[in-house]
Amino acid sequence: MNNLIFVTGGAGFIGSALIREIIKNHNYEVINIDKLTYAGNLQSLKEVEQNSRYKFFQYDIADKQNIRELFLKYQPCAIFNLAAESHVDRSIMAAHEFIQTNIVGTFTLLECAREYVESLNLHNKFKFIHISTDEVYGSLGESGYFNENTAYDPRSPYSSSKASSDLLVKAWYHTYKLPTIITNCTNNYGPYHFPEKLIPLTINCALKSKKIPLYGSGKNIRDWLFVEDHARALVLVLNKGQVGQSYCIGGQNEKTNLQVVTTICNILDELNPRVDGTSYSSLIEYVTDRKGHDFRYAIDASKIIQQLGWQPQFNFNSGITATVKWYLANQDWVDSCHIN
Ligand code: NAD
Repeated sequence: MNNLIFVTGGAGFIGSALIREIIKNHNYEVINIDKLTYAGNLQSLKEVEQNSRYKFFQYDIADKQNIRELFLKYQPCAIFNLAAESHVDRSIMAAHEFIQTNIVGTFTLLECAREYVESLNLHNKFKFIHISTDEVYGSLGESGYFNENTAYDPRSPYSSSKASSDLLVKAWYHTYKLPTIITNCTNNYGPYHFPEKLIPLTINCALKSKKIPLYGSGKNIRDWLFVEDHARALVLVLNKGQVGQSYCIGGQNEKTNLQVVTTICNILDELNPRVDGTSYSSLIEYVTDRKGHDFRYAIDASKIIQQLGWQPQFNFNSGITATVKWYLANQDWVDSCHIN
């Protein structure tokens, strides 16, 4: 077995941050397995693509033959599964791809990993790390937090597909002793975030002087984590995480959507004032709420903090300022995204 890791979905937002983190700060070799859907962008890996420890395969995680061959040929010590359809609004409009990739794709990876681990007797040497979301836990009221013991209660097609994949991962651990770990993280933000999601959408609408859409009353609450802090947490889980466990990862940065959007507008007012002197916040437009919109997500991250020694390095102010600056300097990356 090699000092080599598979990352699925490595051309996406979090997967690319994880690959940049591993290649820059750790010694593993990385194989990126990504189908390159509309959300995948190899430009996000420019900084590492020439590195001899990095390789890319344009494969679908649901393609058993290709995935099986990769396991046999490269014999990884771990896989991080981040390949997914990830946008809640798209899942509400058309759920098929969410079922196919998030559920059938994860099942295919589990089966290929099981064959590999069983044939080489790697139960104590390999880790299958499945990246999931706090949305599997449902919706909170004004108070309380999700933790690893919270019962699953997903409500959207997206979160249901992720919850289904988590349950498959747990079943493969209990039934076949496949060495798995699940992480459930809150909303991420940062560089290379596809411009359909709230934070990059806001920045890009503002910079193009387009209306900034805000669902419902803007009062829904999310707990935001800077993507590089998530990537560091995932490497810690690889190196120190206990097989069979779940780890909740959160930023302790609860914000209403209105607070997020207003903060971005204020930063842009400072860094890139509008020619007519008005605030970017004048572009905010309230639109019909998302169907079944979960009110609040918030994570109690005590377990990963206490057991693995993880600490986020960014608070919301430092992270969001860095993010806005990155988008101002990287509009060519935004233009390279396939927005449809
Ligand atoms: P993303 O949409 O930016 O990237 C997903 C990547 O997966 C893309 O590169 C895409 O091409 C690839 N992909 C899709 N279907 C595939 C398939 N069948 N085979 C191979 N590759 C495929 O998503 P993200 O925001 O980076 O999220 C990554 C993971 O983290 C997802 O599993 C998501 O559920 C989870 N997660 C995301 C957040 C968040 O805030 N973004 C929070 C918690 C958990």
